[in-house]
Amino acid sequence: MKMRRQCSRSACVRPAVATLTYDYDDSTAVLGPLSLQAEPHAYDLCEVHAERLTVPRGWQVVRLATEFEPAPPSPDDLLALAEAVREASRFVPQRVTGLRAEPAPVTHEVAPTGRPTFEIVKGGLDA
Ligand SMILES: [Zn+2]
Repeated sequence: MKMRRQCSRSACVRPAVATLTYDYDDSTAVLGPLSLQAEPHAYDLCEVHAERLTVPRGWQVVRLATEFEPAPPSPDDLLALAEAVREASRFVPQRVTGLRAEPAPVTHEVAPTGRPTFEIVKGGLDA
């Protein structure tokens, strides 16, 4: 099972959207789109950490992408989506044939109460 790659910053659980690589000879950090595979000398960063990236004094940052997109759905995500669609389709009402439409039986009488009354409910919709 393939896990979605996460930001490599400690305590960050956001999905990685960019890959940061360092060129020590040129004192350059290169921030680009998420690499296809996790590289041992590269750092996957989420959108937040990619935008907050800072580099040591004297280094420069080359940003290859200005907008980052999440990694495409993994096969696991697609399976989950397919399962959700399948689950939802079970609730499609079945066509009923051979039955005449009959009025629903009256199971109880609602006594007329006159004018409807309204009450002010504290809290309202924001409660
Ligand atoms: Zn992060």
